[in-house]
Order: sequence, then C-alpha cells, then structure tokens
Amino acid sequence: KDIIQLTDLRKRFGESEIIRGVDLGVKRGERHALIGPNGAGKSTLFHLISGLYKPSSGDIRLNGDSIAGLAPHLITRRGLSRSFQITTIFPRLSVYENLRIAAMARHGRRYALFSLASKATVINRDTDELLELVRLTQARDKFAGDLTYSEQRALEIGMAIGPGADVILLDEPMAGMSREETHYMLNLIRDITQGKTLLVVEHDMEVVFSLCDRISVLVYGEVIASGTPEEIRSNGRVQEAYLGEVPA
Ligand code: ADP
Ligand code: MG
Ligand code: MG
Repeated sequence: KDIIQLTDLRKRFGESEIIRGVDLGVKRGERHALIGPNGAGKSTLFHLISGLYKPSSGDIRLNGDSIAGLAPHLITRRGLSRSFQITTIFPRLSVYENLRIAAMARHGRRYALFSLASKATVINRDTDELLELVRLTQARDKFAGDLTYSEQRALEIGMAIGPGADVILLDEPMAGMSREETHYMLNLIRDITQGKTLLVVEHDMEVVFSLCDRISVLVYGEVIASGTPEEIRSNGRVQEAYLGEVPA
C-alpha cells in the first residue's frame, strides 16, 4: 500500500553521511510533507528517490519495485516526476511550446506506433489539458521568460508532471513567494495532486498543515518523526528539534 518505501537508506559524500538510515513510507494518494531544518538532507533525499544520486546503501521502492540506482528518465517512465529548485523551462519558447515538450514525453515508446497526424492530435490535447491544469491558458502564447515569478513556478510544475506522473515530488514550490502567490500555488498544487501522491518539501508550516495528510521530519539525515499534522505538532522531540525555530 506504500507507493514509496525507503528502507535503511543511506548516502555518503566522502567522509560525511548525509542520509543516515532513513525508513519512510508514503501511502498511495496521500499528500506527504518532508520538513526539517536547512541542511537536513531533504533535497538529497529527493535526488536519491528521483535517481539523480545513487544510494550508498539501502532500498527505494516505487509501487513495490526497487528503483534504487535506476536512471532518472527510467524512474520518470514509471510514473514519478519532480520539480527542481533550478529552473527547467525554456524562456524563449512560449508557454504552450514548453508544455508541448513535456506532453511529448508522456507516451514513451508506444508513441512510435502512432501515425504522425494522430501523434500531433494526442500531444495537442495533452498540452491543452496541462495548460488548464496549471492555470496558464490565458498566458498560452507568452514567452515563458516573460511570465511572473509564480507563473514560472506553475509552468515548471507543468513541465514536471507533463510526462504523466502519478507520484509528484516538489522541492520548496513556494520558495520566494509573496503571501498572495503562496495562496495561488497552494490551490494549484491541491488541484494538480488530486488523485495522485505528493511528497513535498516546504518550510511554511501554514502551507504544510493545510495541504498535507502526513508529515515526516528529517533532522541531520534521520527521520525523527512521521505522523499526522496533529501528531507532529504535539511531538515534543519535533518541537525541540525543528518547530521551535519556525513561527507555526
Ligand atoms: P536540505 O535540502 O535539507 O536543506 P541538502 O540535502 O541540500 O539539505 O543538504 C544536506 C547536506 O548535504 C548539506 O550539509 C550539504 O552541504 C550536503 N551535501 C549535499 N549535496 C552534497 C554533495 N553533492 N557533496 C557533498 N555534500 C553535499
Ligand atoms: Mg536547503
Ligand atoms: Mg533543499
């Protein structure tokens, strides 16, 4: 029933062990937040799950199958997509052209069997669907580089889910956003992840508590607690290690 299952996962860089035996389960269909202080290893954990880094030891399972050490594009093909803190959009292409590139990745090898015309029809339909999902229909023909900050972040998420993910990893999707933009992004993420599984790194506790069904707390490469927002809020160890630093 866990769609993502991490077992005694470890990652060393030279002498330092950054991920120190993480056990973590994410249930199918839940919105799961990963919180913890800066440098705890949250992004590293995402890099491991999405295949950018190879684990030093331990296992990563997606839908019950081990994906540890698998290349990123093969993991994407199995239905897991992520956004990056670095920008992955093409600024001199239009919003539509950007999303069309993402939509083209959706059907993989099966596409080779389609005729050119039916390929175009399917891709155009998928692109329109993506445009609507990330609420950029009005900005369809703008250069991606001319979008506002929050629109660009929305487009990045569209690029990430374009290939057809049912598990989505978002690393600090609200970083650098105003209150208003944060609210916009919160609703967008809620819509996009309807019926899917979300694992999100986020520092804004108001966002975390309103968006997520479960929270795991990573401190110095170890998961010190995992539970419902209520359980996490009332966990003394968590308050001491993390929540105490943050106006919740
Ligand atoms: P978080 O996302 O929780 O802020 P990171 O995963 O980015 O934390 O980093 C966790 C720790 O791992 C930091 O101390 C960072 O310096 C270290 N780290 C991350 N990537 C590497 C790397 N490629 N080589 C060496 N150390 C790294
Ligand atoms: Mg950080
Ligand atoms: Mg990070």
